[in-house]
Amino acid sequence: MIRIFSFLLLAALQSLLAAQTAQAQSVVLNPVLNLYSARHYQTDEALYNNFTKATGIRVQRIEAGDEALLARLRSEGANSPADIILLTDASRLWKAQSEGLFQPLQSATLERRIPVELRSRDTGKGSEWFGFSRRARMIVYDKSKISPDQLTRYEDLANPAFKGQICVRSASHPYMLSLIGAMIEHQGETATETWARGVVANLARVPRGGDTDQIKGVASGECAIALTNSYYFVRMLRSKDSSERESAQKLGIVWPNQATRGTHVNIAGGGIARFAPHRDAAVRFLEYLASDAAQSFFAEGNNEWPVVVGAALNNPELEALGTFKQDALSVERIGQAQGTAQRLIDRAGWR
Ligand code: FE
Repeated sequence: MIRIFSFLLLAALQSLLAAQTAQAQSVVLNPVLNLYSARHYQTDEALYNNFTKATGIRVQRIEAGDEALLARLRSEGANSPADIILLTDASRLWKAQSEGLFQPLQSATLERRIPVELRSRDTGKGSEWFGFSRRARMIVYDKSKISPDQLTRYEDLANPAFKGQICVRSASHPYMLSLIGAMIEHQGETATETWARGVVANLARVPRGGDTDQIKGVASGECAIALTNSYYFVRMLRSKDSSERESAQKLGIVWPNQATRGTHVNIAGGGIARFAPHRDAAVRFLEYLASDAAQSFFAEGNNEWPVVVGAALNNPELEALGTFKQDALSVERIGQAQGTAQRLIDRAGWR
């Protein structure tokens, strides 16, 4: 009797042990990566599935706007499950860095693949964030009203000849703060403030809406010139809505400052969260994002350009825009200048 009982006890213990081992193995075999992303594009599904296929690491996504993600990370503090943070625009990435939301990473792969000006500075412990796609701040114009030789630089937006003709979004938006920050870096605060006052004097309307609204403002005739990130323009060129396509197709485009420093280029990118519970998986994920295949998906999702030279571009409308000289200013310096840029636009009365 005792023998039967002890046999049953042993069997029970063994099966308990086996279950625990299986559970432990499943944790090891099914590791997970918590991704906080300000991106939400169709191609992202394939992007993350391919990572899981290659590594066995499951990607759990929290998607929200840039500001909402940052607010969530702040409130979660050291208890945050976030492994990776993906944000758009250097100004937001730098803000997250300055709040201590990232941790540095030294990766030979990322250093080799991503141009040095498109990632944050290596502080000795590595970079805190890396660009994974590129966008440019371009000018679009009404060909019936504007002669392109009058409009070749950002500086020209302050030309009094364009009074009442310019549409831009709020200057407090990160895209504008970055452009103005870049101008401060290049030509100093005084010249940039004079320029900003000139642009304000030329506005067709009080800044409102996003970049797409500015493009549509030119198409509808409300203004003659607008500033926009390149992907909004390409998105309209590829729209299912024929009126959006036609609106974009009829506009002229300018890559500003080709004869001088080049057009302002910004990034979408990310890094490892400060309290990442799965750091090894996070490193693998960032290195995966810099692979040729992932680069194409990542950029394609938002009609952007890859940061890795030679990664394929499967986007005829984007390719048709051609190539242009890009400002080589470090995106970190652009991000850092946002405080100065904000004070400057406040003084200039640029809302
Ligand atoms: Fe955007």
